[in-house]
Amino acid sequence: RLRSMQASASAPAITQDGVAIEVAVNIANADDAREGVAHGADAVGLLRTEFLFIDRRDAPTEAEQTAAYQAVLDALDGRNAIIRTLDVGGDKDVPYLQLPPEPNPALGLRGIRAGFAYPEMLDTQLRALLAVKPLARLRILVPMIADVGELIRLRERIEQLAVEMQLAERPQLGVMVEVPSAALLADQLAKHADFLSIGSNDLTQYTLAMDRCNATLAARIDSLHPGLLRLIAIAVEGAKRHGKWVGVCGAMASDPQAVPVLLGLGVAELSVSPRLVPEVKSLVRGLSQRQCQSEAERLLGLSSAQEVRGRIVELWPAA
Ligand code: PEP
Ligand code: MG
Repeated sequence: RLRSMQASASAPAITQDGVAIEVAVNIANADDAREGVAHGADAVGLLRTEFLFIDRRDAPTEAEQTAAYQAVLDALDGRNAIIRTLDVGGDKDVPYLQLPPEPNPALGLRGIRAGFAYPEMLDTQLRALLAVKPLARLRILVPMIADVGELIRLRERIEQLAVEMQLAERPQLGVMVEVPSAALLADQLAKHADFLSIGSNDLTQYTLAMDRCNATLAARIDSLHPGLLRLIAIAVEGAKRHGKWVGVCGAMASDPQAVPVLLGLGVAELSVSPRLVPEVKSLVRGLSQRQCQSEAERLLGLSSAQEVRGRIVELWPAA
């Protein structure tokens, strides 16, 4: 009985009209990965590697990092893992890096910008990632990309390191869409990336110009704002032009009211917290992608997140 329950939990989430949606998990370590698998996750959609770097006095070595990344792959029983390069700066401080203090940290040296500013740190992490086996199950994800030049620069660096390491395989490379310019330029990014993953937490913060850590604004920082939905629509359209898939790894993917909208906008993967996998899968199984699509188009014409949520409650009372 337990076996059959586990089997149904890990069955794919397929909509009423036959569209398979990958339901993946956001994790910090191998224990979370095991929890995700136990809850029926199809893959890891986001490993935030920051957790390996915080709460310590110096950076983890290449060997330490490889061991941590390999442990995640090993916990997944053949599933794929998307591992994000270090995303420090902004609200994520790593004291020993001694990033210079800035008046606007969220708009400063963070994500891949910090990576390029500290190339040895970035190279160490890339080498550690390239050392995992099998590379075919690893997907590297880059945070805070703002334009295609950054992506090309990173891809070239990965290629150089892979040649130095005499590797026969290359991992896939994906881009976080969390800066509005990345959503607007998604067609250019998708030409050089294997997939896109929408970071709705930061994309909301930067689109609405509302600090994600500001408690006073918290109620108004809503990813279902039509401005966000239009950016997501543009991002998916740009990716599809190059045959690439788009996922969502921000908190929006875990919001039941957002799920039908994201499916309607053409999102193919939702990455959520491990314990939410069964709920999101069962929600997806009750939806028709085609119906979600025609309704999502109408939602783009509404003028506030409140209106969007009101309409969603009417359309999908189960969400
Ligand atoms: C996001 O911005 O939505 C995201 C997934 O990244 P983080 O929350 O780690 O900034
Ligand atoms: Mg982010």
